[in-house]
Amino acid sequence: MYQEIIPKLYLIKTGKPSCQSYLISGDEMNVLIDPGINQNFEILKKDIQDIGIDMNSLDMVINTHEHVDHFGANIYLQKKLPIITHRYAATKIMSADDEVLRCRAHGHDPHGYHVHMWLENMNVINLGNWFLKIFHTPGHTSGSLCIYEPRKRILISGDTVFAQGTISNISSSGSYGEYINSLARLNTLKIDLLLPGHGDISTNVEEDIEKATANALKKHEKFLNQ
Ligand SMILES: [Zn+2]
Repeated sequence: MYQEIIPKLYLIKTGKPSCQSYLISGDEMNVLIDPGINQNFEILKKDIQDIGIDMNSLDMVINTHEHVDHFGANIYLQKKLPIITHRYAATKIMSADDEVLRCRAHGHDPHGYHVHMWLENMNVINLGNWFLKIFHTPGHTSGSLCIYEPRKRILISGDTVFAQGTISNISSSGSYGEYINSLARLNTLKIDLLLPGHGDISTNVEEDIEKATANALKKHEKFLNQ
């Protein structure tokens, strides 16, 4: 199932246990963000075909972080397309660190994945009419990133920010302290549209981030007092 959120930006939902995928058809490149989990790949492929984009005309895959429900389907794409993610996520994917990746928990082998390009905070990917700014936002995992489009004021947030301030769990390699810092940095951006890895999209982003911060602070305090 897919939905065109704004012209040439598509939300693709292949169903659980996959995350939501996003496809941006830019003037100069087509970018797939988080292709989702391995077993939903055929559904994803069908949705992309239904959108009217040939799989062969995709130019790159960006992963928001190193959880298999976001990157697993890379296995079917990595021979043809560059796979791009933050360098911390890349390290874990390349070394099959399943404590973080969670492949085996979903019945998949953590070995055999490749990352071709390792991102840093504030890298930019220019698609012509889209300008994707990478924000390293550790917390949910250490390699989590968000993709910000400053002219369109859109944030593709992976598992870092969800609608209504729901906060993500802090997974292996993640940290509450870093999560709170990442939310504070995101709160300085002008964001009109939030496109998360799970759940509803949102236009009430400032409030979402503020609620998430309050929730994370509460959990962090509880964690420290344990
Ligand atoms: Zn995750």
